[in-house]
Amino acid sequence: MSHREPSVSCPRRGEALRSGVVPDDEAVDLSLPEGLLPVDGRFGCGPAKVRPEQLDALASRGADFLGTSYRRGAVRALLGRVRAGLRELFELPADYQVVLGNGGGTAFWNIATHGLIRNRAQHLSFGEFSGRFTAVDRSTPWLAEPSVIESPPGTHPEPRAEPEVDAYALTQNETSTGVAMPIHRVPGADVDSLVLVDGTSAAGGMLVRPEAFDVYYFAPQKCFGADGGLWIALMSPAAVARAEEIAAGGRYIPEFFSLPAAIDHSARDLTFNTPSVASLFLLSEQIDWLLGLGGLSGAAAKAAKTAALVYGWAEDSPYAAPFVAEPEQRSPVVATIEFAEHIDAAHMVAGLRAHGILDLEPHRSFGRNQIRMGMFPAIETADAEALLSCIDHAVAQLGRPAGRGRRSNA
Ligand SMILES: *Cc1c(COP(=O)(O)O)cnc(C)c1O
Repeated sequence: MSHREPSVSCPRRGEALRSGVVPDDEAVDLSLPEGLLPVDGRFGCGPAKVRPEQLDALASRGADFLGTSYRRGAVRALLGRVRAGLRELFELPADYQVVLGNGGGTAFWNIATHGLIRNRAQHLSFGEFSGRFTAVDRSTPWLAEPSVIESPPGTHPEPRAEPEVDAYALTQNETSTGVAMPIHRVPGADVDSLVLVDGTSAAGGMLVRPEAFDVYYFAPQKCFGADGGLWIALMSPAAVARAEEIAAGGRYIPEFFSLPAAIDHSARDLTFNTPSVASLFLLSEQIDWLLGLGGLSGAAAKAAKTAALVYGWAEDSPYAAPFVAEPEQRSPVVATIEFAEHIDAAHMVAGLRAHGILDLEPHRSFGRNQIRMGMFPAIETADAEALLSCIDHAVAQLGRPAGRGRRSNA
């Protein structure tokens, strides 16, 4: 294979690295051998791959739901199917509730500061998403200054019991850095305190035990292969009781953020206001598919298999390395791979994009020489394998001759 100079329209290297993004219209001349491309080139971390079977089902059966009242038969039955399916998938105890509303994962941070945190929360802040919930809490005037435990990007901190903390905010998978953490209750914490888990990119692709959380909330555009705009919360009896206690206590809560209103509507297979019915349909199809993989453990095993392949490749590669140094902390659903200095990752990603291999850009808050790839259950392991071959080809063509060894994680 011939080594070629990057085409002239390539942004200057410093530029691409600072922004972490290459404009979509940038032309990078990369040729890949026939038959090497993945069948499906969607590797984004959210919105993430929607399986073609989900879309076919929507096209063939969507008319039963789309354009009909969400307060009547078909859509309510659909919401009931989603709630029952999630209960089965997460093996929820009978007294846990499945609650849904509009606004996506981000909305739930405001819902929590209004209706779940009594006075003071502890946040583990170790990337863009966990950091954003921390910022929402910090700017909430009726709450005490939160306790914030940080750790550098590519690692996660540990929660620790604190006497005045009434809610512990954890993130199972920090999507910006590809760090995952085990979810368990905080040893020594007040029995009355809640564990609130952002499971947005983990839910459906990583194991979690209901006994370990009071609220596990997520949006369906990652493992669940639906569209954004909805939030889903799996709530323990203690969390429901907390929501009722705070709402009864006189704090002003906009009705749109009201958990008691959402709990009440969800129990009747309704949402507070009009939901995206197409998204609910896609979600429902994906829940059935995940159950067919063997439930959460089968789905998690599929993602873990893809992850083992990707991290194994990176460890063996002379020019790539997993960004997360500690193998235990590497996410099974989102991989961040760091490239050696002689390779311009943004340029390579632009070249792959031209071949329909999409959304490998690192998180926009994160201007490092890396790629980030989704490994959700819907992403086939064979497609991940094909992607790694394409990267090897791209590096051979686009990378300047290697002058140095691999870059360390330090
Ligand atoms: C994607 C993501 C969010 C944001 O979800 P939206 O539905 O876009 O608001 C929050 N937390 C984590 C961990 C995420 O991955």
